[in-house]
Amino acid sequence: MSAVDLLAKRIPPKSANHSAESASRCAGNPFQESMLRLLQTPAPPLEDPDDIAIDPPPAIDPQKLADIPKIGSLGEGVELFQALNRNIELLEGLDELRYRAQKLDYLKKANEAKRCDHLKANGVRCGSPALAGKEHCFFHAQFHNAEYTLPLIEDKRTLQLAYMDLAKGVSMKTISIDHGRLLLQILQSAGKNLPDIDWQDGYQE
Ligand SMILES: [Zn+2]
Repeated sequence: MSAVDLLAKRIPPKSANHSAESASRCAGNPFQESMLRLLQTPAPPLEDPDDIAIDPPPAIDPQKLADIPKIGSLGEGVELFQALNRNIELLEGLDELRYRAQKLDYLKKANEAKRCDHLKANGVRCGSPALAGKEHCFFHAQFHNAEYTLPLIEDKRTLQLAYMDLAKGVSMKTISIDHGRLLLQILQSAGKNLPDIDWQDGYQE
C-alpha cells in the first residue's frame, strides 16, 4: 500500500456527517479547526494556470512517509498531505506540458506539409496534405495519376467487361470525365468491328 493510500485511509472521505463530527471533536482547538477547513477546501483545477502553485513543491521526507502509520491526529498529517499533493500536481503538470509541446510540434509539421493541388468543381483547392514528393493527396492522386490501359477487346464478353471497368473508373474518379469520354468512343468503335463470335463458347461455323 502506498503512502498516499495509507494517508487516504487515515483521512476518510469528507461528508457532511464527518465534517460535523470532526468539528465537534476539534472544537476549541483553533489549529486543528483551521487545518480541517484547509482540507475541506477543494483543490484548484489544473486547467487554470493562475490557480496553480508556482513555487517548487516541498521535498518529501522518506522518514515521514515511513511514519505515516504512527500519525495520531489529522493535524499531524496535513503538511505531508499537502506536500504529496503538490508533488503529484507537479508531475501531472509536467506530463501535460510534454503532451502539449508534442501536439504543437505535430501541428507545426502538418501546417508545413505540402498541400494537394487538385481544384474542385467549385474552384476551391483541395488543401489536404499531399503525398510525400507528390502534387496531390492520396484520394486525388488516384484521379490524376490514373493509368488506364485498354484491355484486349476480342468478343462481346470482353467488350462488356471493358465497359464495366470504364464505368467503375469514372464513378470512382480514377478516370477523368474527358478521358472516360474518349475511351467510351474507342470501345464503341471496337464494338462495331467485333466479329460475331464468342471465344469462350469456341468458334461457331
Ligand atoms: Zn486532394
